[in-house]
Order: sequence, then C-alpha cells, then structure tokens
Amino acid sequence: MSTTLQTTSQIAFAPAPERRNDHAAPAVSVRDLVKRYRDGTEANRGITLEVRPGEVVAILGPNGAGKTTFLRQLTSELLPTSGSINVLGVDAIAEPARVKKLMGIMPQDAGVFERLTVREHLEYFARFKGLSKREAVAATRDVIAELGLVSETNRRVGALSGGQRRRILIGLAMLGRPPLLVLDEPTTGLDPATRRAVWQVIRRAVSAGSTVILSTHYMEEAERLSDRIGIISEGKLIAFGTIDELLARLDRSYRISHRDPLDPLADERVRYCKSFAAAQQYVGRERLSEYSIARASLEDVYFELTGEPFDTDETERD
Ligand code: ADP
Repeated sequence: MSTTLQTTSQIAFAPAPERRNDHAAPAVSVRDLVKRYRDGTEANRGITLEVRPGEVVAILGPNGAGKTTFLRQLTSELLPTSGSINVLGVDAIAEPARVKKLMGIMPQDAGVFERLTVREHLEYFARFKGLSKREAVAATRDVIAELGLVSETNRRVGALSGGQRRRILIGLAMLGRPPLLVLDEPTTGLDPATRRAVWQVIRRAVSAGSTVILSTHYMEEAERLSDRIGIISEGKLIAFGTIDELLARLDRSYRISHRDPLDPLADERVRYCKSFAAAQQYVGRERLSEYSIARASLEDVYFELTGEPFDTDETERD
C-alpha cells in the first residue's frame, strides 16, 4: 500500500516492502470477541483480528480500553462471553490446555521467586511447562544466553535489577520456544536502555520463528518493534494496520506545535492542517514566532482515533 505521508520514524524503521507470510494461514484468528464481566462491564465489545505467523503485533490503547482483557482471553486465562479464538489451528475456547502449550505468556502483574537463582527459576518453570529434566537444562541455558544474563546465572533473582527481572519474565515465556508469545506491557517501567535490551530479546525470538502479540504504553515500542499495530478504544479494535496504513487514515497530516513566547510555562499547543501550505498560512495568520511544522506521526493518529493524547495530557487540538 502506498501513502504520501512520511514520518521520521518511518524513515528510520520503514517496514519491509513485502509483508511476511501474507498468504499463510493466520497464527491467531479472533472473531467477534466479547467479554462482559460479572458487574456488567463490557471490556471487549466485538474484537476481530488475524495475526500472521512471524508477525509482531502491538496493541495500543488508553487505560481501561480493554487491552489486558483481550490478552487474558487469548491466553485462556479468561473465558470470553462470546466469540471465537483460534491459535495455530486450535480452538482456544474448546481446548485451552492444548493452546496454552503453544504459548509463552508474560502477564502484566507477574512476579518472580526471589530466593531462586536465575538458573533454578528457569529450570523450575521449564519443568512446570512439561519439559524433561534434560530439555529443561538445555532450554534454560539457551534462554539465559538469549537474555544476556549468563554472568547472573547463579545469582538469586531477588538480587537482580528491575530490568533483569523483567528479562527473566520474558525468558520464562520463551522457554521451550513456543510459537506464540503473548506479552502484556513487557517493558513498562524500564529505563530506555533496558527497554532496548528487551526489544532485542523479542526480536531474536521472532527471528527464531515466534509470533508475538504484545501490549504497550510506549508509542516508540509499537513503531520500532511491531509489523502491525492495533488500537483498542472502549473495548473495540478501532484501527489495525501497518504504520503507513494507520497514517493514511489522517486527513490532516501536518502538525504545527507552538508555544506562547511570552508565557514560557504555558503548554505546547498543537494544530493539524491538510497541507504544508495550509500550515504555513496558519503560522502567518496567527503571527506565530515559536513553532514547528512536521508530518503527522503515529501519536497523532492515536489522538485522532481515540480522542486522547498518548501518555501525555499536554496536547491540545484546535
Ligand atoms: P486496559 O488493559 O486497556 O487498561 P482492561 O482490560 O484492564 O483495560 O480493562 C477494561 C475495562 O474492564 C475497564 O473498565 C476495567 O475497569 C474493567 N475490568 C477489568 N477487569 C475487570 C474485572 N475483573 N471485573 C470487572 N471489570 C473489570
């Protein structure tokens, strides 16, 4: 698909011209997924999407939009009220145990056993996942290497940094090389360097053949790591596509950011225009002195579609 829009992020991380496994059977197929909690909250209101094998899909959305509910249904932790989920040809609702074997899961609120060493922790979970003793030892060795934690192998998990623990949690999901990884906010709270290290781990898993579905609070993570992005708002999947496809949904694709030079504490203001010329006209008309004009970004698409600024409440729209 072609688009006239370009962003810095697109230039730096342009998606491959041909999509991976465009014609292969989907790795995950979700149809009309509805989740109504007992108190009547309709957290998912008819979500339909297909994820291709080898693809990384990032799910974005405001707090409370229904992202975790969606992922917990995918992993069979929550039973859907209605709809269907198929993972690698297996009906996830009819055969949750079988489907769980195909997945590595990193829940948002997962904890670690602080008293175990890194090696013990991974081996314990590998056995729990059904690997033989020998397989567990081998899988643990591989995962520790992939996580970049070889020198921590015999350290207690309780003595590790927050970022290292987060890597352990991803490692637990990766044990046994499951074909599908479902990661709920894998890098929330990590510093940028550790976040990048986690991205490397996820990329390596994809290179080794895994499909990944993750939710994230970080726009950059979605842009840099994923092939396609789904935006969930109020329980619905309101957009799903490559960055190019999402950007093509904006009809005003230039963004002016400006400040009041006489009030340095005032918030930045944002206005969208259809063309660069229209943006320049606006700048002239309003006699703006401190401004920038840029192509719209994924953040702008998110704002346009959800009506909420992403991870900031400073943005304002005219
Ligand atoms: P997100 O992950 O996007 O922040 P969630 O899936 O956690 O959203 O929540 C979606 C909606 O469902 C919210 O309104 C939330 O309060 C509600 N919700 C989540 N879990 C439960 C539950 N166990 N019982 C009732 N409502 C819930």
